[in-house]
Amino acid sequence: MPWPRNLAKAIKTKVNLAGYTSFKIGGQAKYFFEPKNLKQLQQVLILAKHAGLRVFILGAGSNILVSDSGLDGLVIKLSNKSFKQLDCQGSCLTAGSGLKLNALISFSRNKNLSGLEFLTGIPGTLGGCLMGNAGAWGKAIGELVKQVGVLDYNGKLKLLESKQLKFAYRKSNLNNYIIIWAKLKLLAKEKKAIAAKINQYLLRRKQSQGNNLPNAGCIFKNPACGSAGRLIDNCGLKGMARGGAVISKLHANFILNTGKAKSRDVLSLMDLTRKKVKERFKINLEPEIKIWK
Ligand SMILES: Cc1cc2nc3c(=O)[nH]c(=O)nc-3n(C[C@H](O)[C@H](O)[C@H](O)COP(=O)(O)OP(=O)(O)OC[C@H]3O[C@@H](n4cnc5c(N)ncnc54)[C@H](O)[C@@H]3O)c2cc1C
Repeated sequence: MPWPRNLAKAIKTKVNLAGYTSFKIGGQAKYFFEPKNLKQLQQVLILAKHAGLRVFILGAGSNILVSDSGLDGLVIKLSNKSFKQLDCQGSCLTAGSGLKLNALISFSRNKNLSGLEFLTGIPGTLGGCLMGNAGAWGKAIGELVKQVGVLDYNGKLKLLESKQLKFAYRKSNLNNYIIIWAKLKLLAKEKKAIAAKINQYLLRRKQSQGNNLPNAGCIFKNPACGSAGRLIDNCGLKGMARGGAVISKLHANFILNTGKAKSRDVLSLMDLTRKKVKERFKINLEPEIKIWK
């Protein structure tokens, strides 16, 4: 595609996506772009729209499985510092969507603001976290959101107030937008107490997951009746392997890349898991990870 001169150099072609995902799996993106600022992002969105190019917004890549054959589209990553601004007013924190959650948690701890600690150890960005209403230990980010600044896919800016936002278990109504920033409501607390909570959550996470091999967190959402991991475990699937992918022996809802796993290996394990859980418990497991193809 003939990009205008100001973008032509910055838009890379045939970029390997495996290195941009926590799973370390996936083929190439036809186009890959890290905009310098909002204006460039708006410009590229309009061009992509006119060219009928599919657009994929990439955060930290910790909740996606990219197809082995790559993506015939434009991947946009909001990695520039202009998408990582942080500001604090009273007990409200305004943060850019490209920020990693750990940076956000450290910043709020240093400002004596509590509320984000439960997200400790989730390796995503604020944007990815809001999109999927990430959470842990019975809490989710949606509970803290006051406002979100978004762009639609025509490059138009919009401000969404909390009453316009809908968050539910691992989902939001932000699917048609690119999240640029969010304002979160936190609570004033002593730094020491916040740090202690962060350490507690880190320890709990290490004990329950402790996986060193590349993965994308929980593969399936928990069904209404309880834990997807327990259902998978009860089907005897822990340790089951396909190619380079294996179902974790520690946490059955995790699939690990033992080194050379392909996307098709993970998909094959997901199919098997869904089939076995359906046969045994009559429950349809729904993927939590986003499959990009
Ligand atoms: C070891 C491990 C543990 C995990 N533990 C948890 C957990 O406890 N709880 C939990 O909820 N999740 C967990 N996850 C999953 C994942 O980290 C979260 O879902 C995280 O919020 C995803 O953020 P991301 O930036 O990596 O998003 P990505 O994986 O890059 O993208 C996920 C989705 O969000 C969209 N997206 C990303 N940024 C934006 C944006 N700015 N605007 C619009 N759309 C955007 C993408 O298009 C995609 O659809 C875990 C993952 C790993 C690897």
